[in-house]
Amino acid sequence: MQEYIEQLWETVTIEFMFKFFVVYFFVVWMALVLWVAKDISNRSNSRIFQTFCVLLIILLTPLGVFLYLLLRPRMSVYEKYQEEIEGNLLILWDIVHERLEKAPGEMLLCHNCHIKVEDDYIMCPECKTSLKHNCKSCRKEIRSSWAVCPYCKTKQEKKTHQKKSQKHKAKKQKNSNY
Ligand SMILES: [Zn+2]
Ligand SMILES: [Zn+2]
Repeated sequence: MQEYIEQLWETVTIEFMFKFFVVYFFVVWMALVLWVAKDISNRSNSRIFQTFCVLLIILLTPLGVFLYLLLRPRMSVYEKYQEEIEGNLLILWDIVHERLEKAPGEMLLCHNCHIKVEDDYIMCPECKTSLKHNCKSCRKEIRSSWAVCPYCKTKQEKKTHQKKSQKHKAKKQKNSNY
Protein backbone atom coordinates (compact mmCIF):
# COMPACT_ATOMS: atom_id res chain seq x y z
CA MET A 1 0.00 0.00 0.00
CA GLN A 2 2.76 2.40 1.03
CA GLU A 3 4.69 1.50 -2.12
CA TYR A 4 1.66 2.09 -4.27
CA ILE A 5 1.15 5.61 -2.85
CA GLU A 6 4.84 6.40 -3.31
CA GLN A 7 4.65 5.19 -6.90
CA LEU A 8 1.61 7.35 -7.48
CA TRP A 9 3.42 10.40 -6.09
CA GLU A 10 6.35 9.77 -8.33
CA THR A 11 4.11 9.91 -11.40
CA VAL A 12 2.67 13.26 -10.28
CA THR A 13 5.51 15.28 -11.70
CA ILE A 14 5.44 18.89 -12.80
CA GLU A 15 5.14 17.66 -16.37
CA PHE A 16 2.07 15.61 -15.47
CA MET A 17 0.49 18.57 -13.66
CA PHE A 18 1.17 20.77 -16.65
CA LYS A 19 -0.43 18.27 -19.06
CA PHE A 20 -3.41 17.91 -16.75
CA PHE A 21 -3.99 21.68 -16.68
CA VAL A 22 -3.60 21.97 -20.44
CA VAL A 23 -6.29 19.31 -20.97
CA TYR A 24 -8.48 20.90 -18.27
CA PHE A 25 -8.12 24.35 -19.81
CA PHE A 26 -8.86 22.96 -23.28
CA VAL A 27 -12.09 21.30 -22.09
CA VAL A 28 -13.29 24.47 -20.32
CA TRP A 29 -12.31 26.54 -23.35
CA MET A 30 -14.28 24.32 -25.76
CA ALA A 31 -17.30 24.37 -23.44
CA LEU A 32 -17.14 28.19 -23.35
CA VAL A 33 -16.93 28.40 -27.14
CA LEU A 34 -20.01 26.16 -27.49
CA TRP A 35 -21.91 28.13 -24.84
CA VAL A 36 -21.12 31.49 -26.44
CA ALA A 37 -22.05 30.19 -29.91
CA LYS A 38 -25.44 29.09 -28.58
CA ASP A 39 -26.00 32.17 -26.40
CA ILE A 40 -25.16 34.71 -29.10
CA SER A 41 -27.39 33.01 -31.69
CA ASN A 42 -30.28 33.66 -29.26
CA ARG A 43 -29.31 37.29 -28.77
CA SER A 44 -28.29 38.50 -32.21
CA ASN A 45 -29.30 37.74 -35.78
CA SER A 46 -26.15 39.29 -37.23
CA ARG A 47 -23.80 36.59 -38.60
CA ILE A 48 -20.85 38.97 -38.39
CA PHE A 49 -21.44 39.78 -34.73
CA GLN A 50 -21.97 36.08 -33.92
CA THR A 51 -18.66 35.17 -35.58
CA PHE A 52 -16.93 38.06 -33.82
CA CYS A 53 -18.14 36.88 -30.39
CA VAL A 54 -17.07 33.27 -31.01
CA LEU A 55 -13.65 34.45 -32.24
CA LEU A 56 -13.36 36.63 -29.14
CA ILE A 57 -13.72 33.53 -26.95
CA ILE A 58 -11.44 31.36 -29.12
CA LEU A 59 -8.64 33.94 -29.22
CA LEU A 60 -8.92 35.72 -25.87
CA THR A 61 -10.11 33.17 -23.29
CA PRO A 62 -10.28 33.68 -20.35
CA LEU A 63 -10.35 37.47 -20.77
CA GLY A 64 -12.67 37.04 -23.78
CA VAL A 65 -15.43 35.69 -21.53
CA PHE A 66 -15.62 38.97 -19.60
CA LEU A 67 -15.46 40.97 -22.82
CA TYR A 68 -18.30 38.86 -24.23
CA LEU A 69 -20.45 39.38 -21.11
CA LEU A 70 -19.94 43.13 -21.52
CA LEU A 71 -20.61 43.16 -25.26
CA ARG A 72 -23.54 40.78 -25.62
CA PRO A 73 -27.03 42.26 -26.12
CA ARG A 74 -29.01 42.53 -22.89
CA MET A 75 -32.08 40.75 -24.24
CA SER A 76 -32.51 37.65 -26.33
CA VAL A 77 -34.08 38.02 -29.77
CA TYR A 78 -37.29 36.48 -28.43
CA GLU A 79 -37.45 38.93 -25.48
CA LYS A 80 -36.80 41.85 -27.83
CA TYR A 81 -39.57 40.63 -30.13
CA GLN A 82 -41.95 40.37 -27.18
CA GLU A 83 -41.10 43.87 -25.99
CA GLU A 84 -41.66 45.23 -29.49
CA ILE A 85 -45.11 43.61 -29.68
CA GLU A 86 -46.03 45.02 -26.26
CA GLY A 87 -44.90 48.48 -27.38
CA ASN A 88 -46.95 48.23 -30.58
CA LEU A 89 -50.02 47.11 -28.65
CA LEU A 90 -49.71 50.11 -26.34
CA ILE A 91 -49.47 52.46 -29.35
CA LEU A 92 -52.47 50.75 -30.96
CA TRP A 93 -54.42 51.04 -27.72
CA ASP A 94 -53.58 54.76 -27.54
CA ILE A 95 -54.79 55.28 -31.11
CA VAL A 96 -58.07 53.46 -30.43
CA HIS A 97 -58.51 55.40 -27.20
CA GLU A 98 -57.83 58.70 -28.92
CA ARG A 99 -60.28 57.93 -31.70
CA LEU A 100 -62.99 57.04 -29.22
CA GLU A 101 -62.43 60.09 -27.05
CA LYS A 102 -61.47 62.82 -29.53
CA ALA A 103 -63.69 62.00 -32.46
CA PRO A 104 -67.06 60.95 -31.07
CA GLY A 105 -68.72 62.26 -34.23
CA GLU A 106 -66.84 59.77 -36.38
CA MET A 107 -67.56 56.75 -34.24
CA LEU A 108 -70.20 57.13 -31.58
CA LEU A 109 -70.73 54.31 -29.12
CA CYS A 110 -73.65 53.50 -26.85
CA HIS A 111 -72.45 54.31 -23.31
CA ASN A 112 -74.16 51.20 -22.00
CA CYS A 113 -73.45 48.33 -24.42
CA HIS A 114 -70.76 50.05 -26.55
CA ILE A 115 -72.17 49.18 -29.97
CA LYS A 116 -71.76 51.73 -32.76
CA VAL A 117 -74.63 54.21 -32.94
CA GLU A 118 -75.39 57.15 -35.21
CA ASP A 119 -75.23 60.77 -34.12
CA ASP A 120 -78.98 61.29 -34.43
CA TYR A 121 -80.11 58.14 -32.60
CA ILE A 122 -82.08 58.93 -29.45
CA MET A 123 -82.13 55.34 -28.26
CA CYS A 124 -79.67 52.46 -28.56
CA PRO A 125 -81.21 49.88 -30.91
CA GLU A 126 -79.40 47.11 -29.07
CA CYS A 127 -79.98 47.70 -25.35
CA LYS A 128 -82.72 50.38 -25.53
CA THR A 129 -80.74 52.83 -23.39
CA SER A 130 -81.75 56.41 -24.14
CA LEU A 131 -78.82 58.15 -25.78
CA LYS A 132 -80.22 61.67 -25.56
CA HIS A 133 -82.31 63.68 -23.17
CA ASN A 134 -83.17 67.30 -22.52
CA CYS A 135 -81.06 69.22 -20.05
CA LYS A 136 -83.18 69.88 -16.96
CA SER A 137 -81.94 73.47 -16.84
CA CYS A 138 -81.77 74.80 -20.43
CA ARG A 139 -83.96 72.07 -22.02
CA LYS A 140 -81.53 71.59 -24.89
CA GLU A 141 -81.08 68.10 -26.26
CA ILE A 142 -77.82 66.55 -24.98
CA ARG A 143 -76.24 63.11 -24.97
CA SER A 144 -77.05 60.98 -21.95
CA SER A 145 -73.42 59.94 -21.53
CA TRP A 146 -72.34 63.52 -20.87
CA ALA A 147 -71.69 64.43 -17.24
CA VAL A 148 -72.33 68.13 -17.80
CA CYS A 149 -74.57 70.04 -20.17
CA PRO A 150 -72.16 71.79 -22.59
CA TYR A 151 -74.70 74.62 -23.17
CA CYS A 152 -75.36 75.69 -19.58
CA LYS A 153 -72.75 73.80 -17.50
CA THR A 154 -75.44 72.07 -15.42
CA LYS A 155 -74.33 68.75 -13.97
CA GLN A 156 -76.37 65.83 -15.26
CA GLU A 157 -77.71 63.06 -13.06
CA LYS A 158 -76.57 59.67 -14.18
CA LYS A 159 -78.96 57.71 -11.97
CA THR A 160 -81.49 56.99 -14.69
CA HIS A 161 -78.91 55.51 -17.07
CA GLN A 162 -77.29 53.45 -14.37
CA LYS A 163 -80.64 51.99 -13.42
CA LYS A 164 -81.34 51.16 -17.02
CA SER A 165 -77.94 49.61 -17.55
CA GLN A 166 -78.36 47.55 -14.40
CA LYS A 167 -81.71 46.34 -15.63
CA HIS A 168 -80.12 45.53 -18.95
CA LYS A 169 -77.30 43.62 -17.26
CA ALA A 170 -79.82 41.67 -15.20
CA LYS A 171 -81.72 40.86 -18.37
CA LYS A 172 -78.51 39.74 -20.06
CA GLN A 173 -77.61 37.54 -17.11
CA LYS A 174 -81.09 36.03 -17.14
CA ASN A 175 -80.77 35.31 -20.83
CA SER A 176 -77.37 33.72 -20.41
CA ASN A 177 -78.77 31.47 -17.69
CA TYR A 178 -81.15 29.86 -20.09
ZN1 LIG B 1 -76.70 50.08 -26.05
ZN1 LIG C 1 -78.23 72.77 -20.16
